[in-house]
Amino acid sequence: MVFKPEPIFRAIDFLKEDGEPRKVVLLTPQGRPFDQSIAEEYSKENTRFVFICGRYEGIDERVKTLVDEEISIGDYVLTGGELAALVVIDAVTRLIPGALGDERSIEDESFSWGLLDYPHYTRPREFRGLHVPQVLVSGDHREIEHWRRKQALRRTMEVRPDLISRVKLTEADRKILSEIEASSGEDS
Ligand code: SAM
Repeated sequence: MVFKPEPIFRAIDFLKEDGEPRKVVLLTPQGRPFDQSIAEEYSKENTRFVFICGRYEGIDERVKTLVDEEISIGDYVLTGGELAALVVIDAVTRLIPGALGDERSIEDESFSWGLLDYPHYTRPREFRGLHVPQVLVSGDHREIEHWRRKQALRRTMEVRPDLISRVKLTEADRKILSEIEASSGEDS
């Protein structure tokens, strides 16, 4: 079963009647892989979005003449495009100024600077024998920054080495990476 073109064309024609600009995005496993840079790009577009979500085998190919961009949320197949659209909507809206209570929340999380996020801890300092790393309670902000960057680099190197090759590393990062390599297997 495939979505026929008429209802989708009629829906888009209806939405465009007010003359407002709209970006039409088709969710499909064959689209451009969605990532944080697309989320940032979309969050800055001063336009409304229309998401076309398929089901079954997908949509009649002619619907693509209405579409500005095809987006995939990953290399797997969902039953329908609705969850994919929600993923895109969630990742984009949280980047729009005013959406989050504290704007700084989006500044240093995974992918915002090309790496995975560093580990986070909160109170208590010790829980069931598990301790918050000493450096984080030292009050030494330079050391804390260094530790966080090192952890982010370490995690990314271990879990997503593909990201490391794409990120712009500073001289300090390269030094940290060689420290990590030199102490591989040890805890820091
Ligand atoms: N026949 C299609 C194919 O092989 O490319 C798969 C159709 S899928 C079962 C039904 C709908 O789910 C698609 O039309 C699309 O809207 C949505 N969908 C499935 N996987 C998706 C993904 N990875 N990203 C975005 N949308 C997806």
